[in-house]
Amino acid sequence: MINLMRHSNLQQILKGCDQCVLCGLCLPHCPTYQVEHNECESPRGRIVLIQALMQGNLDSLKIDLSSLEHCLLCRSCEAVCPSKVPYGEIITLTRDELSPKKSRLVSQLMDAVAEPQQMQQMLSKLKLYKKSGLQKLVQAGGLLSGLLKGELRAAEGLLKHASVERLQDYYPAKSEFQGDVQLFVGCMGESFDQQTVRDAIALLNGLGFGVKIAHPASCCGAMHHHNGEINKGSELKTISLSRLTNDTTDVVLGLAGSCVARLNEGSEEASAPSIIEITDFLVENLAKVTEGISVVNKKVAVHQPCSNKNLLNNFDKTIELLNKISGLELLTLPTYGCCGASGIHMVSDAEHARKFLADTVEWLAVEKPDLIVSQNMGCMFHISSEMTRQNMGIEVIHPLSLLRSAFADKI
Ligand code: SF4
Ligand code: SF4
Repeated sequence: MINLMRHSNLQQILKGCDQCVLCGLCLPHCPTYQVEHNECESPRGRIVLIQALMQGNLDSLKIDLSSLEHCLLCRSCEAVCPSKVPYGEIITLTRDELSPKKSRLVSQLMDAVAEPQQMQQMLSKLKLYKKSGLQKLVQAGGLLSGLLKGELRAAEGLLKHASVERLQDYYPAKSEFQGDVQLFVGCMGESFDQQTVRDAIALLNGLGFGVKIAHPASCCGAMHHHNGEINKGSELKTISLSRLTNDTTDVVLGLAGSCVARLNEGSEEASAPSIIEITDFLVENLAKVTEGISVVNKKVAVHQPCSNKNLLNNFDKTIELLNKISGLELLTLPTYGCCGASGIHMVSDAEHARKFLADTVEWLAVEKPDLIVSQNMGCMFHISSEMTRQNMGIEVIHPLSLLRSAFADKI
């Protein structure tokens, strides 16, 4: 369900759409088109629909606009478009224009990532949920698990990795001091993916870097920006950047590619620091480290998040990092170019999001890797949740966690 249009972004949207020459070269790269084989679920189909809507040739209240909500914003189409159509901008502005309605759970999650106070309330409930033993029951796949459907099951996937522990503001270096870095962990890192954050800190400390963590946690704004709330997204991004600029002498690192891309995108904060995705930084600083790395004899399926592939263009750095560990057999986890997580999409339309893992699950059943690694937190949760649902017993972790375990003797 979509509300009435506001017409505030109309000219910008139409200008972007006009760049499309309808060549269709993007279609084979679009995950929704690959899964549905339907022009409406392709970049070209969406552009034609958006154009007709913005020109007033269609009534947004009378037609099915679900294809616009199905777009995963992976931007694979943009990466291959010869006409440089700004597809990401077109779809985010259109969603802002149409203001998609959200369920109560999705609204609560979006409010929680935006407001540290609400996140605290959510964590208090989580504490109770964990303490009561209810979480163990759900994760064990018992009666309650069978009752969890769609959104709730996806939300449980988030809770699986959740932690109520607080991180320190500063973690000192544990070898010859090289300098301090700030680590942007985003709105979810501390609460929902603390293990990855702690592994990243341990690696940085072991390499001689002190690590500062900004409190309270703040959000890059990507979730709001991509889901019809551009102003709120920009406000959150500005807050995050202002916290990161407190000490301009530090290098600022980001853990999630999608957050790094969002914080670095656009010129509205010209004086803002450039955030470096942690993989790039570690590759550079681990270049001289050749000792103290254990041999890990494991078959590892490596997931390629679309943010690293299409926005940061640094996925090769992940492979470079993993290649420092002897004994690994690395396989590429096949997806349609996007695993379907797409931020809040894995919760707001869980059944649609799962479609993009159907072939992946079949492949995993044949290849039987020991581990899956993904450097995007949302993708990790989504894939991990599917592994639980399919009873596949394959753990999904961040590549940095694997790296840290291989460096266990050194750091
Ligand atoms: S978005 Fe680009 S690649 Fe796709 S149909 Fe339009 S011009 Fe062609
Ligand atoms: S952003 Fe991704 S899902 Fe959306 S139209 Fe482009 S390729 Fe398809």
